[in-house]
Amino acid sequence: MMGPLGCVVAVTYRCDARCTMCDIWKQEVDRETELAASDYAWLPASLRSINVSGGEPFLRDDLVEIVSVMRRACPKARIVISTNGLAPSRIERMVGEMGDVAVRVSVDAAGSLHDEIRGVDGAYERAIETALRLRAAGVSDLGLAATSTEGNPGELRGVKEVADGFGMEFAASAAHSSPIFFGEHESERPHSDRAVAEIAGIMREWLRSPRPRDWAKAYYMRGLIDYVQGKPRRLACRAGLDLFFLDPKGLVYPCNISGTLMGNVRDGSFEDLRRATRTEVRRKVAECPHQCWMICTVSPPMWRRPLGPLAWMAGAKLLKLDSRAGQ
Ligand code: SF4
Ligand code: SF4
Repeated sequence: MMGPLGCVVAVTYRCDARCTMCDIWKQEVDRETELAASDYAWLPASLRSINVSGGEPFLRDDLVEIVSVMRRACPKARIVISTNGLAPSRIERMVGEMGDVAVRVSVDAAGSLHDEIRGVDGAYERAIETALRLRAAGVSDLGLAATSTEGNPGELRGVKEVADGFGMEFAASAAHSSPIFFGEHESERPHSDRAVAEIAGIMREWLRSPRPRDWAKAYYMRGLIDYVQGKPRRLACRAGLDLFFLDPKGLVYPCNISGTLMGNVRDGSFEDLRRATRTEVRRKVAECPHQCWMICTVSPPMWRRPLGPLAWMAGAKLLKLDSRAGQ
């Protein structure tokens, strides 16, 4: 069996935000049950991407050590830490001790609406301060990440302009429900024509870019439009094969939405868990009703089978979708 290419690792479910589109912060967390830094040494060397997530990962005092263990185990992996950015000086200090990591700071609106969505007064100022401190500290793979919800129509554009103005990357996603992660949030999922138009506008902008990397991001945005419109996912899902999700207690799932438990890495090796559950995981993934579209669940199958996405990018450039209103 080929090794996985990507994973999301939630290192804690503790969180200092109170987001409307996520229930993780409501959990009672016993930090004694969280995996220790050394427990990440088994992560497969095949990984190209590790998304360190939470909760809020920077609430772990040993996050620097966790990243160091991950880097030794997975030398080819780009390590991306997702943060709410609520602790600017702590985050700056810890990232400074980590060396080469990517950081994405969540910002869902360019102003006080972000505070409402995140449930924390001053959250926007703190997130921006975090991003600017990291930029000043020389973190080059740095960006703002915005989640489209029913509550922030039209705000992705504003966040992208802030990111562009700072010379940072911008990433967009949409609210998802997950029985094992975010909780049930179907009502937060964006549905409106305005949300679609905004995503399509950013897609066209990225298609006009000279950077091939932006064309791939445009393809991702095309899939995000499908998700918002309730259409089937345009890329076959390979959860459990090319990607997996690891929760803070060691539970392994094919992805951070599917509730199909593969086992606990405290009870057996990751490879044994994969092998033992392979047939069931393939069946459940094939029947999955979620049709999710998130960077973490889309990138690994894009790397494994790039022809479809490349054909879309070439077609979109040829058809000049970048300058048309349609998709
Ligand atoms: S979305 Fe992230 S920052 Fe917000 S409550 Fe959930 S884990 Fe915390
Ligand atoms: S389509 Fe289903 S199984 Fe595949 S990554 Fe999304 S939620 Fe998981």
